[in-house]
Amino acid sequence: MNYSDLLKSQRDLFDSGKTLPLKFRIEQLKLLKKMILTHEKQILDAVYADLKKPDFENQLTETQFTLWEIENTLNHLKYWMKPEYVETPIFHKPGYSFIKSDPLGVSLIIAPWNYPFQLMIAPLVANIAAGNCAILKPSELSTNTSTVISKIISETFPSEYILVVQGGASETTELLNLKFDNIFYTGSTQVGKIVMSAAAQNLTPVTLELGGKSPCVVDKNVPLKQTARKIVWGKFLNAGQTCIAPDYILVDKSIKDKLIESIKEIIVEFYGSNVQKSNSYARIINERHFNRLTTLLKDGEVVYGGQTDVSDLFISPTIIENPDLKSNLMTEEIFGPILPIMEYSNVDEVMKFIKQRPKPLALYIFSKNSKFVQSIIEHTSSGGVCVNDTLSHITTSALPFGGVGDSGMGQYHGKKGFDAFSHQKSVLKKSFLIDFSMRYPPYIKLSGFMKKMIKWVS
Ligand code: NAD
Repeated sequence: MNYSDLLKSQRDLFDSGKTLPLKFRIEQLKLLKKMILTHEKQILDAVYADLKKPDFENQLTETQFTLWEIENTLNHLKYWMKPEYVETPIFHKPGYSFIKSDPLGVSLIIAPWNYPFQLMIAPLVANIAAGNCAILKPSELSTNTSTVISKIISETFPSEYILVVQGGASETTELLNLKFDNIFYTGSTQVGKIVMSAAAQNLTPVTLELGGKSPCVVDKNVPLKQTARKIVWGKFLNAGQTCIAPDYILVDKSIKDKLIESIKEIIVEFYGSNVQKSNSYARIINERHFNRLTTLLKDGEVVYGGQTDVSDLFISPTIIENPDLKSNLMTEEIFGPILPIMEYSNVDEVMKFIKQRPKPLALYIFSKNSKFVQSIIEHTSSGGVCVNDTLSHITTSALPFGGVGDSGMGQYHGKKGFDAFSHQKSVLKKSFLIDFSMRYPPYIKLSGFMKKMIKWVS
């Protein structure tokens, strides 16, 4: 079957109304949960084969994260689906107004390779919750995970409801030429632009979950060891291949050297003195990305790490000082285990630095000074902010996750995911009891009193 026939069979199922009832959506979410639990080992083995992701990281960030998302959705879906009653103007009374969340229809969900299971399945949770069908396009770079996803999804769901298409840019381009009702894309800013312009041809709404350079600001007077621990964890998890990883550090110049020393100590504490032998450290996805990253090592002064081994796709946790601000290291998302560190003298300098660059997906601030924190939150724009930790803000399902400007548009996780895959339909329900004739032609000449009345009710 070609892609347009596949899309048609999904649209036919959607149009039948089968995916609409709460009961159906709950049943499918439970099936998805069962699928993950039954095949968890297979899923984790596949992600390991793609990225050598350590066991604990693998389970936490791939299957467990997705199971939390399902559990939260199962607990709240009944309430999310309820109409939201809103105020009705007096001239429509007796009548009432509400907002009803409608499914959009058939979605195309495109995922990247860095969290290849989570980033394919977490949007699917929201898609099922909202009552849609979906075609899933996992990344061609994480082939082991994509193959497992395709297999277990086809064993769990009929293809006219949920279907996986495997392939790369050419298959995705073919899919993008079709008229979907919704496109949810996670990946690079560059491909995000291609997705959005294809969607524009069909006026299809898009959610773009993109990347960017997420700054990490460190104020003086922070507990150094704890700060270093949180930064090292967030930066080197999945060998830095995390969309919200701290990309670079801006640190108060009075503590720069001490922070660097603490970061070095923590790297050894976490991964030992020979990181390549550690079983808590992942590998780079492929040789192309390995070569891209090793080239970045020339864009500043390597003061720690810098060991590489192409045969193992290994790059050690690396610290760079005095990076060239015009180089690729400082103009493109690093997406690997390289951490540039720069100093600042005052908060204005920090805000200027951040505002002169594209809006980041995440912004990290380590400080005990609430005025310092507030001022940065107030005067900068980013997808999200996390104070005194890294990455953790995305595990709060009540907080929407998404970017702004170059880091994306639209949000998901929890209720926001349900909203992203729904249309908020406005409904006004009036009665036959009152029907003011003065609104109909031929119009009467309004008295002064009537003019006042109109002003009053509007
Ligand atoms: P990518 O944009 O290269 O690929 C993502 C998807 O797009 C893949 O499924 C791929 O097959 C498809 N694709 C690639 N080229 C295409 C083309 N020319 N036309 C149509 N489709 C195409 O991204 P990636 O390398 O897989 O992922 C890394 C990027 O994703 C980083 O920038 C990272 O920050 C971002 N990311 C963002 C989030 C988020 O939630 N915001 C999460 C993870 C990764």
